[in-house]
Amino acid sequence: MFVSDCISINEKGHLTVGSADTVELAKKFGTPAYVFDENEIRGNLRAFRNSIEDNYGGNGLVCYASKAFSCKEIYRICMQEGTGVDVVSGGELYTALSVGFPAENIVFHGNNKTPDELLMAVGNGVGRIVVDNLTELETLNGIASASGKTVGIMLRIKPGVDAHTHDFIKTGQIDSKFGFALETGEALEAVKAAITMPSLKLRGLHCHIGSQIFDIDPFELAAEVMLGLYKQIKDETGYEFDELNLGGGFGIKYVDGDTPIPYGEYMKNVSAVVRAETEKHGLKMPFILIEPGRSVVGAAGLTLYTVGAVKKIPDIRTYVSVDGGMADNPRYALYGADYQIICANKANEEKNMTVTVAGKCCESGDLIQENAPLQSVEAGDILAVLSTGAYNYSMASNYNRIPKLPVIMVNNGEARTVVRRETYEMVASCDV
Ligand SMILES: *Cc1c(COP(=O)(O)O)cnc(C)c1O
Repeated sequence: MFVSDCISINEKGHLTVGSADTVELAKKFGTPAYVFDENEIRGNLRAFRNSIEDNYGGNGLVCYASKAFSCKEIYRICMQEGTGVDVVSGGELYTALSVGFPAENIVFHGNNKTPDELLMAVGNGVGRIVVDNLTELETLNGIASASGKTVGIMLRIKPGVDAHTHDFIKTGQIDSKFGFALETGEALEAVKAAITMPSLKLRGLHCHIGSQIFDIDPFELAAEVMLGLYKQIKDETGYEFDELNLGGGFGIKYVDGDTPIPYGEYMKNVSAVVRAETEKHGLKMPFILIEPGRSVVGAAGLTLYTVGAVKKIPDIRTYVSVDGGMADNPRYALYGADYQIICANKANEEKNMTVTVAGKCCESGDLIQENAPLQSVEAGDILAVLSTGAYNYSMASNYNRIPKLPVIMVNNGEARTVVRRETYEMVASCDV
């Protein structure tokens, strides 16, 4: 019925998340607001950890891809659950370090890290910097030599695997801004350069083939391609890697018909490929890193809005306008993302309307969803948009000078604020 396991309906007919009544949450914390179920997040992290434990003898590390949802509390949760994190900017790195996240378990990504960001990562002892290109490799080598440290790196490779997903979020193919191409020999060249740099320790290679992927095959193929490259590198240079980073991209359920891979299945199949390929090529079994982002937090979060105007345009459509929009959820405007939407205070009622849910921004494209089935709503009702835990808060903007939403964390019915709502003063705070 609901796309997310942590969602239910209580005796009042109200929608609940993590056993908390969303109508009460809207009253207490105001709308619009993001709400997360903490147990769902922790459960997902544990499921990924256990999958490595059960299928690969625990010889690996789950690194939560924090661009999906980044704030101090999520880094604390990852720390408590014993996972690593991946960061893609100085801001994410700063936030992780600010709560004492162990730098050795931080993986630093990005296709154009600035020298300042690299300096910050080296200075703080980040365990693995994933180098994207030759310019970065040279810059980093310079920074590392000057610091007198040996810096752990991986190289990002485009394995050329088509992940059957939306074009905008497909990153493993040759025409991508991320990483070194395999087909052109660029990857091999980068490896050869990196192993001659005395201040850099090349721990392994990385690939990330896309996002919101529902098939296991492309992941298996990527692992096979990467280990083929490991073999080629060993043959040509004698160098053998200790680690292999297989990225993230596991799909989640946004609407009925989405069929996520059970996390255990993924690791079971992929570790079988890793075993078979290392054996075939006479390589040592690498320490494995995986980087789930969306699948850790996506279905654990929802957004609550209050309905304002309901505009019925005869024979055309009905616009239901809410007190948020593309500033807190740009995903529909960006790539037509699907969502399940429920009227939280009428969750038991039948959905007998088809509506377009619109935001309050001055932009016609500011929509949360078109042609969405919904209960019969009126001004003052509370809407819940499900599975907004990933790439919503983290992609939010202050368009129209709208203050960013708070993040409320629910644990067994108890709710607390983990990110406060922005005020108008905060929105204007950098203005001179
Ligand atoms: C975005 C990203 C991830 C996480 O992707 P999800 O689809 O959210 O799981 C992992 N690794 C890298 C390098 C990424 O860029």
